[in-house]
Amino acid sequence: MTDTDDIGAQLKALRAADPPTHGGRVLSYVYDHGRPELDEVVAAAVQAFLPVNGLDPTTFTSVAVLERDLVAFSRSVTGGDEEVVGSVTSGGTESCVLAVKAARDRWLERNLGGTPTIVMPTTAHPAFRKAAAYLGLQLVEVPVSAETGTLSAATMLAAVAAAGEGGTAPALVVLSAPNYPFGVLDPIAEVAEVLADLGIWLHVDACIGGWLLPWWPGVTRGWDFRLPGVTSISTDLHKYGYAPKGASVVLYRGRENHRAQYFATAAWPGYPVVNPTLLGSRSATALAAAWAVTRTLGAAGYAELVAETAGATDRIRSALTGIEGLSLVGDPSTALLALRADPAFPPARQVDPFLLVDAVRRRGFLLQSQPALHQSDGTWLPRTAHLTLTPVSARIAGELTEALVGASNEVRGRSAPAPDPALVQRVAADGLPEELAGVMATLEALPKDQAPAALVGLLAGVIDPDAR
Ligand SMILES: *Cc1c(COP(=O)(O)O)cnc(C)c1O
Repeated sequence: MTDTDDIGAQLKALRAADPPTHGGRVLSYVYDHGRPELDEVVAAAVQAFLPVNGLDPTTFTSVAVLERDLVAFSRSVTGGDEEVVGSVTSGGTESCVLAVKAARDRWLERNLGGTPTIVMPTTAHPAFRKAAAYLGLQLVEVPVSAETGTLSAATMLAAVAAAGEGGTAPALVVLSAPNYPFGVLDPIAEVAEVLADLGIWLHVDACIGGWLLPWWPGVTRGWDFRLPGVTSISTDLHKYGYAPKGASVVLYRGRENHRAQYFATAAWPGYPVVNPTLLGSRSATALAAAWAVTRTLGAAGYAELVAETAGATDRIRSALTGIEGLSLVGDPSTALLALRADPAFPPARQVDPFLLVDAVRRRGFLLQSQPALHQSDGTWLPRTAHLTLTPVSARIAGELTEALVGASNEVRGRSAPAPDPALVQRVAADGLPEELAGVMATLEALPKDQAPAALVGLLAGVIDPDAR
């Protein structure tokens, strides 16, 4: 056996090449609470549950207890009563896929004929595209405002009516609380009211907002189970719930809806199989860690962390309004912001988001580039730079603002490199360059049906360089 010190050193060396996961310099992927004592709580929980198999809560009864507590706490912060039940999953994608599976199976039980359909805004998370692809549903995409990223309730309801004209109602409608790209809240109350009357399943994707909105100052619009038309909600513990990766919750109004998520079979010569979620054997470490974090923080702890995040968001938003040629998309409801070139200025005074992301990166902060999108109504959603703010953003708000101002001054009036079709092959062969603006502009310009293969080539080249 290799010396354990040596193994530890190797892992440390690999981690040293990663961007910093603490401190607020990576403005996506990681959610830093800024409380070192919570990290210790997590480490102890993971250690205690390492050998457990979450596959069978009848054998490992601890698993059932932890899950029950997490579901109860999640239900209490999403306005649910005893009718609301659910499961802990491995992440937002699994929660969304399972909600689609349950809605589809409930729709199929009604035996209406035709293909089950998901109706959702273009801003809904790709997890629903994945669910449609995996589970055989059709997608109807509803455009949002190109100026503000907001969905009109009337446009959504017209799309629902049109989808039903073939004779069958959609299997489900998906709305976001809020959406990831622009951080904007969909008109959930308005749509829920009509869908309740029509008896159509409404899934609210609160993967990103579910642990912010309950305490965010000034939220007056409804989004949770207090609206009778909301059928299911996904909410990620491993984002603003501050649990380590591998934990999310999916909640349903009504046990029958939840049961439709299960898979069970006795048709093999082995043990009787019943899986509430997608995985079979599964780690209980993320479950235990999420339980430990939620117990440590409690509602009061989340309120405190949300107050810090909201304060930082206010500060950064007001600094942004002073940057010429750059503007926010719409009116973000929480801590997710998208920056676009401000159309009120001539191109010579605009800040290109792709160039901004590269220039901010040279100043020590990682933002996310989001390509423009052509919608079915002919409008274009703008290319943007995405920021996910957290409690620790308060500590670096000054530095981040300086980086945004400096980067904007550096790139103002310049346009991102033109799309270069040869670039995709070059990147697949040589890996990603330091400056990503050209790659993003090229991906943005690819026809929608060619983008997936290009993306697969890029990522496969990173994971498996021999394939280049
Ligand atoms: C993150 C996210 C998801 C998917 O979650 P994963 O945990 O990344 O699988 C779904 N919806 C929204 C709005 C999200 O932000």
